[in-house]
Amino acid sequence: MIKLDNVSKTFETRNGAVNAVKDVNLEINEGEIFGIIGYSGAGKSTLIRMFNGLEAPTQGAIHINDVMISDVKGAALRAARQKIGMIFQHFNLLWSRTVAENIAFPLEIAGVKKAERERRVAELIHLVGLDGRDKSYPSQLSGGQKQRVGIARALANDPDVLLCDEATSALDPQTTSEVLNLLTDINKRLGLTIILITHEMPVIRKICNRVAVMEGGEVVELGDVLSVFQTP
Ligand code: ADP
Ligand code: ADP
Repeated sequence: MIKLDNVSKTFETRNGAVNAVKDVNLEINEGEIFGIIGYSGAGKSTLIRMFNGLEAPTQGAIHINDVMISDVKGAALRAARQKIGMIFQHFNLLWSRTVAENIAFPLEIAGVKKAERERRVAELIHLVGLDGRDKSYPSQLSGGQKQRVGIARALANDPDVLLCDEATSALDPQTTSEVLNLLTDINKRLGLTIILITHEMPVIRKICNRVAVMEGGEVVELGDVLSVFQTP
C-alpha cells in the first residue's frame, strides 16, 4: 500500500515560495489503477515525483509498502526506486540505443548478468507487443511503439508500482486507447499498482478505479471515478 501523510512541497524561488503541493493525505491500494487529474500547475507532477524520491516533501511522509521513501537516501533510495517504474509524456528514451538496449538499460544499472538480461528483454518485448522490433531505433518507431518501449523499460526490474506522467498526452486518441488497454492488461496480469497523472478526463474514465482531483496543490475531491465524475 502507498500512504501519504500530510505531504506538502514548497519550492523557494526568486519570486518567493511556491506551495506546489499542500497537505495531501492519500492511501492507494495494492493492484489499484489510481488517477490524479488537474489543470496545468495543479501540483500533479510534483506529487508523482515525490512517489519515487525525485523530489523530497518539505513536510509529511510517503510510505511505499514498507519503505518510507520520503526519508531514505543513497543505496536504500536506489534500491527502492528499482521497484518503482515510471513512464513519461515524451518517452525519455535513449535515442542512440535500440529498443532492446533501452529496455536493458535499467537491468544493466541493477547489475543483472547478460544472459538473464537478454532473456528478460525478450520477455518484455513480447509483453508490450513489440516482437520483431528489438533492433529498431526509437526514431524508427511510432509514438505508440515508443511508449511501449517506455513501458517495457519501466517494468524491467519487476516493479511494484508504475507511475505514469501524462503518458498518453503526446498520442492521438486511437494510440492512447491502445496504450491504455496495454496498461490495463499489465495491471491485471502482473497485479502491479498503477498511478497515473493526466489533465484528460477520458483517460481517467477509461482505466482508473479511483481518482483524486487536484487544484492549487490540494486534493479537492477523492473517490470512485463514477461518483467523482457523476453529472448532477
Ligand atoms: P502540474 O503537474 O499539475 O502541471 P506541477 O507540479 O508541475 O503541476 O507544478 C505545481 C506548481 O509548482 C506550479 O506553480 C509550478 O510552477 C511549481 N513548480 C513545479 N516545479 C517547480 C520547481 N522545480 N521550482 C519552482 N516551482 C516549481
Ligand atoms: P532528463 O532530466 O533529461 O530526463 P535524465 O538524467 O533523467 O535526464 O535522463 C537522461 C536519459 O537517460 C533519458 O533519455 C532517460 O530516458 C534515460 N534514463 C534515465 N533513467 C533511466 C532509467 N532508470 N532507465 C533507463 N533510462 C533512463
